[in-house]
Amino acid sequence: MSLPKLPSPDMLLATWNVLLDALPAAVALLDGGGRPVVINAEWKRMVVGDHPWPLTERYPSLAEKSGLWNAATAAQVEAGLADVLAGRRDMFQEEVEVAVDIFGSRWQRVQILPVDRGSFDGAVAMHIDITQQHRLSDDLLEQKVNLEDINRELQRFVYVASHDLQEPLRTVASFVQLLARRYKGRLDPDADEIIDFAVNGAKRMSALIQDLLSYSRLTGAHYHVAEVDLGHVVLDVLRGLDTLVAETKSNIVVHPLPTVLADPIRLASLLQNLISNAIKYRHPDRRAQIEIFAVNDGDMLTITVADNGIGIDPAYHDKVFEMFERLFPHDGRDGTGIGLTIAQRIVESYGGRIWVESTEGHGSTFLFSLPAGMISAWSRPTPVLPSGDSP
Ligand code: ADP
Repeated sequence: MSLPKLPSPDMLLATWNVLLDALPAAVALLDGGGRPVVINAEWKRMVVGDHPWPLTERYPSLAEKSGLWNAATAAQVEAGLADVLAGRRDMFQEEVEVAVDIFGSRWQRVQILPVDRGSFDGAVAMHIDITQQHRLSDDLLEQKVNLEDINRELQRFVYVASHDLQEPLRTVASFVQLLARRYKGRLDPDADEIIDFAVNGAKRMSALIQDLLSYSRLTGAHYHVAEVDLGHVVLDVLRGLDTLVAETKSNIVVHPLPTVLADPIRLASLLQNLISNAIKYRHPDRRAQIEIFAVNDGDMLTITVADNGIGIDPAYHDKVFEMFERLFPHDGRDGTGIGLTIAQRIVESYGGRIWVESTEGHGSTFLFSLPAGMISAWSRPTPVLPSGDSP
């Protein structure tokens, strides 16, 4: 039986050199004085160029002399190399800015590891060009900052526009109302109708401006944190809606709710939107039944506002949270299509989520979750229930 033929040492070395040159990184074996003794092709491109190296020169100073690195980088790598060669640290690894070209800074990731094998005492240095990654992340950062600026400007615009519109609108509204009081029934029927249109238009515009102002205030950095008893918040909201509740004979059941650490005004606005919608979108054939309760699954606190109203076709479950989105804008119910957008912004500002479960004609259940860590107490002891259960 003949033994397999082993490659000769020359052949092994040649193969090794081909492999080294094919690497997309610069690699060098350094002697104990930090001088390159074996290098690959990429090393010339990235570190020392075609500079003839005097045997006494350490590689960071060579890189500086060949013009491929700036002096500060050469000094930083020199310090790391000295530490590794002297055994003061196990490894040097750093992302360094090596030079500047017409597009900006060039970056390399440098790694120097000690080599202590028999008679050889030195190190291996490796460099990878990471300029593209750096430029990409710089671009992304710049885009993010730009987007944040644009967003801030837009919010400011919405605030200023709606705020400055309020004053002239108030004047228009009060004159139109005066006109209605003085001349309604004293002119011809067409004139009465026109006055009604004007009064309603002014009312709708005023509601829109109020909602836009509330929306733009949400992005202000003025976060207030206090202990907010959600049970009290719901009672306050219901007090504000008592005429509507009485007129519609709505039946509202409120289960024990927790106290959370949050901004009281934001939470009141959130619950106000959900509860007033539950009454507003009641079914014409039945009295509104609304139930409000909370479940803590240990991870998230979920608050539910369930009604037996007109319901929402599942195709529109996401759409209703979009700004100005109204499913039946001409059904006689007042609205601006901003309430649920505000609710969503508030919930998301706490790292929570809001969604709706419903089918058309069979009531809607709006749910929002907040991190359970926000709970500071319950108004009455309520058991922690597994996710998905309801009290
Ligand atoms: P608005 O009530 O001012 O129109 P919202 O943003 O509060 O605006 O709600 C958006 C739309 O979602 C409403 O126009 C309505 O079509 C639908 N909607 C909201 N709440 C309910 C609900 N409880 N039941 C049925 N539809 C609802």
